[in-house]
Amino acid sequence: MDDLLAGLTGGDRRALSRAITLVESTRPDHRARAEALIAALPDRQALRIGLSGTPGVGKSTFIESFGMRLTDQGLRVAVLAVDPSSARSGGSILGDKTRMDLLSRNPRAFIRPSPSSAHLGGVARRTREAIRLCEAAGHDIVLIETVGVGQSETLVAQMSDLFVLLLAPAGGDELQGVKRGIMEMADLILVNKADGDLLSTARRTVADYAGALRLLRKRVQDPEGFPKALPVSATTGAGLEEAWAQMQALAGWRRDQGHLDRIRAGQAQDWFLSELRQGLLARLQTPAARRCIADLGGRVAEGAVPPSVAARQMLDWLARPRDSSDVL
Ligand code: GDP
Repeated sequence: MDDLLAGLTGGDRRALSRAITLVESTRPDHRARAEALIAALPDRQALRIGLSGTPGVGKSTFIESFGMRLTDQGLRVAVLAVDPSSARSGGSILGDKTRMDLLSRNPRAFIRPSPSSAHLGGVARRTREAIRLCEAAGHDIVLIETVGVGQSETLVAQMSDLFVLLLAPAGGDELQGVKRGIMEMADLILVNKADGDLLSTARRTVADYAGALRLLRKRVQDPEGFPKALPVSATTGAGLEEAWAQMQALAGWRRDQGHLDRIRAGQAQDWFLSELRQGLLARLQTPAARRCIADLGGRVAEGAVPPSVAARQMLDWLARPRDSSDVL
């Protein structure tokens, strides 16, 4: 354990990989070691950037080219993926590292595919802990990538200092069906593929989104002019410097105003609540608990016990010390 911690904080990539594997494990003895490791980590902070976008919008291409720019500036970059669907689709979004060929071979970068758990709660825990591990390993930037489906975007936004939404140029005047809730989480909208034939469409799309962002309610954690929409091209690199400058400006302002600390404190509380919820749910999944639930469910169906009473009986059962009888 001490070796793992020493290797990790010394910047050994293999130690970081092993540590993430440890936090991904659900085996009780691994969990205990993972918790001890997390508790012993030094308090280093990276800038946490959440990045979301639908498949095909150019996330991998963007991360490769944006990540290379950051590492060229001497920064160390970690990339984590959150893809709750990866188990179902059979391959994680970053599983194929050739998609980030240069970055994956870059000594200043660390890329970790999404774990193969279909369970969002499990992915959330692992990602939060993996972020801490990457920070302790000395990374300056942690990029957390997610596909724009389901709740994973909300999850990633709740773990990030900045949340970036990558969109494709869209013809017509429709806002690509981006849900309002997602727009409200975005700090920066980057319209990718602003190159070649798509350039003018991309510029129009940027203007559309800039207009839509202005209609949103002002948030306390935003300086004047944010959230913003900008055009970028992941393939030519156009706009990437500006995007990075905007991210730094926003992060700097939030840090100076104390918002970053407040955002992280709120996130830590959310993390606690989500662990608590998960822990409670796990206690409902044990064989003994399942038997009780089936039992009570049967009685509810027969009309012998009102549902609310049965629920309270179950909660009482959960609260009882576990060495007592397993029956109600
Ligand atoms: P992801 O699924 O979001 O990771 O998207 P990819 O990075 O795999 O990119 C999907 C496709 O869009 C690929 O064929 C890329 O070459 C292309 N692409 C990505 N970024 C750009 C860009 O900035 N301009 C253009 N023209 N194509 C791009």
